[in-house]
Amino acid sequence: MRTRLILTALLCIPFMNAAAHEEEEHAHEAHAAHVHGAAVLNVFTEDDSTVVLELDSPMINFISFEHKPGDEKQITEYNSFLKTLSSGIFSGDSAFRINSEAACFVKGFEHDVEFDDGHGDFELTVTYRCEKIDSLSSIEVNLFKNFPALHSISAQVVTEKLQKGFELKADSHIINLK
Ligand SMILES: [Zn+2]
Repeated sequence: MRTRLILTALLCIPFMNAAAHEEEEHAHEAHAAHVHGAAVLNVFTEDDSTVVLELDSPMINFISFEHKPGDEKQITEYNSFLKTLSSGIFSGDSAFRINSEAACFVKGFEHDVEFDDGHGDFELTVTYRCEKIDSLSSIEVNLFKNFPALHSISAQVVTEKLQKGFELKADSHIINLK
């Protein structure tokens, strides 16, 4: 609980800066700022064996529209994205790769899509159980190559040892936890 409170406090500052500079964004009450091309990733440890990754992103970073799918083409595209989710791109090793020494495996996987006011938001939570959490040293985020409309991820990390923000892009996509 304490970790979550710290995290919330840390997150406010970058969002306010983003809001001041981006035209095409609007904040939702419970969401991160909605900026096309950008996403937010929260990384935190919950106890001595759990690592949680929370991704919050506009849907436009993953599909070409931001409303409930209407015509056949959109339905196909949307279903294909959902299929991508269940295929393990997000839950397996390919989207987020934690260094193998930490011996982490996926314990929980939840996602949610919301369309509202002409914009869509995607939320993803992946929970890992790590056998050697002390050996946690890096998380590779490999979403950029699969989703070229996604340009940057603002990552906020809160662990027992570290509280730090990272700006991830295609050519700098590794969170260094040491
Ligand atoms: Zn939008």
